[in-house]
Amino acid sequence: MIPTDSDRARWRAALQPAMESRRQQGLMRQRLERRGPCTPSMSVNGHTRISFCSNDYLGLSNHPDVVSAFFDGAREYGVGSGASHMVTGHCRVHDQLEEELAAFTGRERTLLFSTGYMANLGVINALTNAQSVVLQDALNHASLLDGGWLSRARSRRFTHASLPALEQALRDEKESPCLIVTDGVFSMDGDVAPLPGMIELARRYGAGLMVDDAHGMGCLGVGGQGVIASFSEDTLLDQCDVPVLIGTFGKAFGTAGAFVAGDSALIAYLEQFARTYTFTTAMPPALAQATRASLTLITNEPWRRQRLQALISRFRSGMQRLGLPLLPSHTPVQALMLGDVDQAVAASEFLLTRGLHVTAIRPPTVPVGRSRLRITLSAVHTDEQLQQLLDAMAELAHTFSRSLLGQTYVNN
Ligand SMILES: *Cc1c(COP(=O)(O)O)cnc(C)c1O
Repeated sequence: MIPTDSDRARWRAALQPAMESRRQQGLMRQRLERRGPCTPSMSVNGHTRISFCSNDYLGLSNHPDVVSAFFDGAREYGVGSGASHMVTGHCRVHDQLEEELAAFTGRERTLLFSTGYMANLGVINALTNAQSVVLQDALNHASLLDGGWLSRARSRRFTHASLPALEQALRDEKESPCLIVTDGVFSMDGDVAPLPGMIELARRYGAGLMVDDAHGMGCLGVGGQGVIASFSEDTLLDQCDVPVLIGTFGKAFGTAGAFVAGDSALIAYLEQFARTYTFTTAMPPALAQATRASLTLITNEPWRRQRLQALISRFRSGMQRLGLPLLPSHTPVQALMLGDVDQAVAASEFLLTRGLHVTAIRPPTVPVGRSRLRITLSAVHTDEQLQQLLDAMAELAHTFSRSLLGQTYVNN
């Protein structure tokens, strides 16, 4: 694709086929412009609409405690961290946040990264070499897939959430060191990885296990520890069960950044060898301060999770009454599978006419033929807003042919 000289016309001609094919497939993406904070009712491209597509699951991104902690942090430390963590960018507030996250997740230590994408790239690369195999769930987030592809290791995908498929892969690759990598809550389907079975397989075959819980952390479990807290009322899957745990701050925490949690040997190693930790500017300290405020709210306000669960149940039973089949999910990510790109886009556009913002998710984010509406709920949606969504869905069910909406799709 790269032209051999920098003549402007040739350069453009080289880029054009990919752009044209994307346009023809109806997959061109467009940015919208929002004014003001990320709240359920938001102004986008000059229209005020109710949003069911943000990842601000607990309504913390605009919480006064979080905002004022951010100001406090900026007053104390300034805005930029000024250097990487290994030079002079690492501040006391980073240590405090790391320690609080370790206590929260029941791990010995944690390490902060600037984004979840960078955490996944850095951790997978540091833990593998040319002899390793990275075993990826087929529906893993792009940052995990990229982490495997950009490493020296070989990548291999197994059928989504299938323990038999994972075991087969482990058996085939038993001569190589294997790292099993999975989303905790799958970002586009909303289902949860079968962790107890995966832990057992990892032990039996001597493989590593890495869980990226971007969408579960803060939302699942009584205390909000996410997927590690969702298999039992009173115990977490610990750092022996899930030795490499990733959490991100851009979703339920309502800030930005990420962390990896594990035992002290792992974290000390990553501090040395994760290149996306070492060779980048440290997270702004004010952001660490804001994230500490989020963590306090996540811990002290379990009502946010209870409220979220209540909205999820109400939405699911409402959709069931309308005969609109959602994928199985008890998380804030809910998916109405439509299959075809045009159907998904038309459904999303229809909802826009009703003042509702629900994104159509298309390839390459999801496999071809599995385009969908992805509906995300937040603890701060009101009952009236949810009812408005269900009313519009009832209209949608009538407007769109039953044959398309009523199809059942098999996970593959
Ligand atoms: C959003 C997301 C990421 C990326 O995190 P950022 O902090 O936004 O870079 C990683 N993994 C999963 C599963 C995600 O959903």
